Amino acid sequence: MLKAVTRCLWSNPVAGRRMMSHHVPQNLSGKVAIVTASTDGIGLAAAEALGRRGAHVVVSSRRQANVDKAVSLLRSKNIKVIGTTCNVGKAEDRDKLINMTIEQCGGVDILVSNAAVNPFFGNILESTEEVWDKILGVNVKASFLLTKLVVPHMEKRGGGSVVIVSSVAGYQPMQGLGPYSVSKTALLGLTRALAPDLAHSNIRINCVAPGIIKTRFSAALWENEGVLEEFLKQTSIKRLGQPEDIGGVIAFLCSDEASYITGETITVTGGMNCRL
Ligand code: NAP
Repeated sequence: MLKAVTRCLWSNPVAGRRMMSHHVPQNLSGKVAIVTASTDGIGLAAAEALGRRGAHVVVSSRRQANVDKAVSLLRSKNIKVIGTTCNVGKAEDRDKLINMTIEQCGGVDILVSNAAVNPFFGNILESTEEVWDKILGVNVKASFLLTKLVVPHMEKRGGGSVVIVSSVAGYQPMQGLGPYSVSKTALLGLTRALAPDLAHSNIRINCVAPGIIKTRFSAALWENEGVLEEFLKQTSIKRLGQPEDIGGVIAFLCSDEASYITGETITVTGGMNCRL
């Protein structure tokens, strides 16, 4: 039987991929995972990947209707999940998210800081103080403040894992996306700055830098065929990334299989050149 399966996997790699996706190890059972901005795109895929590995997942985003939709979608896939609204830029929302998690799930082991905004497209010299406050506040400061909030709770559980979602734009600023790109570079620094101190509490912190992933957020980059073609020239794997391509890497970083990885950023870009 085993031989037959192995032979099938060797001769048919596509079938192999499909089969393996049904055999996800339950290596996160008993863990509680908070994922911000998790009602769509990469955050939703991360919530699903963590949930399929057995974690109890807490989803959130700004709009209640989106939260409700994500919760029922994940429940339909037999994932243990609760949800609440949380605009990560608001202190009272961050508190509410953590308090609700502790009350309803009994603790927290995993934080995926995925929320980001980009209210500005254009020449960086035309970006205003307001734009910078918003981008740095939501993308960078809130990631730090959420991490700070969960640390005492992770300590009570004997440790934990934090994953921050940066971007390939953090390595090479994208044209028209100057302030956003700078915020993503800052997250690479935040990951490294926090790693030594969190290690004292047995908490690992890592970062994922996605390339071009097909979500609503990046629609401007893939809806126009000419723009898409230009981006694909920079990749080795000639396709757009899918949210699931990122979700699995996030789940890996949260698992014990990554127990000796901290302060690291994994680029998931289909082979785009990433260098600071
Ligand atoms: P997406 O599919 O458009 O989803 C965005 C999610 O964020 C939604 O659930 C949205 O729900 C929520 N959200 C937006 N602002 C929020 C806020 N202030 N607080 C809480 N939730 C908020 O976006 P995505 O492409 O998955 O992006 C997720 C992350 O990946 C971001 O950090 C982004 O920078 C990064 N990234 C994306 C790409 C890409 O190509 N897509 C590449 C590199 C990095 P509500 O509207 O209900 O709030």
